[in-house]
Amino acid sequence: KIVDLEDIPGVGSAIAEKLREAGIYTIEAVAVATPGEISSIAEVGESTAVKIISSARKLAEIGGFESGEKILERRKKVGKITTGSKELDKLLGGGVETQAITELFGEFGSGKTQLCHQLAVNVQLPKDQGGLEGCVVVIDTENTFRPERIVQMAEAKGLNPDEVLKNIYVAQAYNSNHQMLLVDNAKELAQKIKKDEGKNVKLIIVDSLMAHFRAEYVGRGTLADRQQKLNRHLHDLMRFGEIFNAAIVVTNQVQAKPDTFFGDPNRPVGGHIVAHTATFRIYLRKSKGELRVARLIDSPHLPEGEAIFKVTEKGITD
Ligand code: ADP
Ligand code: MG
Repeated sequence: KIVDLEDIPGVGSAIAEKLREAGIYTIEAVAVATPGEISSIAEVGESTAVKIISSARKLAEIGGFESGEKILERRKKVGKITTGSKELDKLLGGGVETQAITELFGEFGSGKTQLCHQLAVNVQLPKDQGGLEGCVVVIDTENTFRPERIVQMAEAKGLNPDEVLKNIYVAQAYNSNHQMLLVDNAKELAQKIKKDEGKNVKLIIVDSLMAHFRAEYVGRGTLADRQQKLNRHLHDLMRFGEIFNAAIVVTNQVQAKPDTFFGDPNRPVGGHIVAHTATFRIYLRKSKGELRVARLIDSPHLPEGEAIFKVTEKGITD
């Protein structure tokens, strides 16, 4: 069950409001905050802040330790969603995994949004066709979600486009705080459609992760603030993936590092927070015409490598 901030003992509507204004929307976010943070945001003493945090931890069941057996049990449930390209699936060890954050980064036009659309269709496929028979939540920050494109991709897979569109829940995020709030809303939505329709959300997409954060936090002084919020956001997304055994896919922009003389100067934005939280990082590059190159970077258990795939009218293929 989803608990509100107000359910934390010692947190009334006034404190809850202050926390939300600062981008803290969930008890999990309170649970992982520092007493100093809560104290300054909520304008309470440190000892009160400590009490609030420990109550939030109890509610969020963040004990800290889990047995290896329990983790293995959860890992056994990991599902994989086909990308539409066998080559790309192979690179990813079978497809996009649940309970993990997959980051797609690359230049404008490299195919990030196309791949997101394709995954939103493919997650709905039966299990023997590389899907998880699931629904999808899309947090669209750049207004690039196109239902027409979903229709093309669904038809190419022999699926009923209307049914496919019904299982895709899209929200536009107006700013970074709203983007964070939408993860919370997504949890409620996922529980509601499970209860009402017996359907499972198996994929959550954030396209793009960094656009609002980059636009709003300009200059060195605000960077620490931004990273703290980003950390919280990624943590919330990861929790969503664990609660619902869903895949998390985020897209990211690149920035050319000016002091690179050899190799590719492009780096994903977002710094160490994104680098350390994303389980799979995939760098997408344009090649000739429809061809795209995907490179897997920093995977915990897969070898680095590249895959070539195509973006066609039918969607992502080999
Ligand atoms: P980004 O990485 O910026 O999100 P996109 O995923 O939007 O990039 O990729 C845009 C590219 O996808 C276009 O330049 C085009 O090559 C290809 N594309 C988009 N729609 C179609 C389509 N209907 N048919 C074929 N290719 C398409
Ligand atoms: Mg895009």
